[in-house]
Amino acid sequence: MKLFGAIEAGGTKFVCLVGTDPQHVQEESRFPTTTPAETLSQVVEFFKRAASGRNLISIGIGCFGPLDLDQQSPTFGSITSTPKPGWANTRILTMLQNALHVPVAIDTDVNAAALAEYTWGAAQNVDSCIYLTIGTGIGGGGIINNAPLHGLVHPEMGHIRLPHDRQTDPFEGICPFHGDCFEGLACGPALQKRWGQPAETLPENHPAWELEAHYIALALCDYICTLSPKRIILGGGVMQKQSLFPLIRKNVLQSLNGYVQSPEILENIDEYIQPPALGSRAGVLGALALAQFGWENS
Ligand code: ADP
Ligand code: ZN
Repeated sequence: MKLFGAIEAGGTKFVCLVGTDPQHVQEESRFPTTTPAETLSQVVEFFKRAASGRNLISIGIGCFGPLDLDQQSPTFGSITSTPKPGWANTRILTMLQNALHVPVAIDTDVNAAALAEYTWGAAQNVDSCIYLTIGTGIGGGGIINNAPLHGLVHPEMGHIRLPHDRQTDPFEGICPFHGDCFEGLACGPALQKRWGQPAETLPENHPAWELEAHYIALALCDYICTLSPKRIILGGGVMQKQSLFPLIRKNVLQSLNGYVQSPEILENIDEYIQPPALGSRAGVLGALALAQFGWENS
């Protein structure tokens, strides 16, 4: 029986598993993200043990970034300029490939999550989608024409610039690079700094939510007008606030103002913009889908 491996490489924890699909996971383990040497040796140990006596075909990594995903680059498959201490310039792909002797595929955590939702979740019946996570930071990935979205580097959907009316929202933003980019205005820590309390403690009727939905909707309108995705999936800690969904949908319709003439948006927006069907499993299952996708397309 063919088995695939998956690694969700996150800034706080790593999740590893072997299996074939969400219903068939044979083994799974998680460890905190410490140093690359310590964490990656735990990853290697896990796969050596889990693969023993089994037919492990390939491994996928959905990784925090930024990443070098240029196949021609000598440092392909490395984490590049992360502020995470010790992890900048970590050659995660090469290290794992050399230690485990199986093909390893790598992509951003959000491209992986998009691939998981496209393969097994909320975007199964469409050939393109975007997955956006709104949590400690904001990141987005996507599937376009049935393949993960790549370009010069990889999309940085959290760092787009949005109209920012400083009369109604004087908050300067917290992005260390741009101040008031989308992430700077709307990630979880931005909510905490603007309103003086963690996002999860802000009450239902707090004006924070209308403003948050306004910024998220502006960003979604930009993605709709540039990438034309057939579905948008919103995950991450801040989107645990379920009441954001109807506010975001209303703001998207208002902002587009009837211009994008698609029944998917005009008549079916509840399905068009939705939470991840795989919930918090989207990341690690995305890595599993990536292992299979890389293998099928190699
Ligand atoms: P990460 O992005 O590091 O993976 P999360 O996706 O869990 O982490 O996002 C963490 C952020 O989500 C924090 O800023 C936190 O304040 C916010 N958050 C967590 N739960 C909720 C909630 N129920 N409502 C709104 N915000 C929340
Ligand atoms: Zn930024």
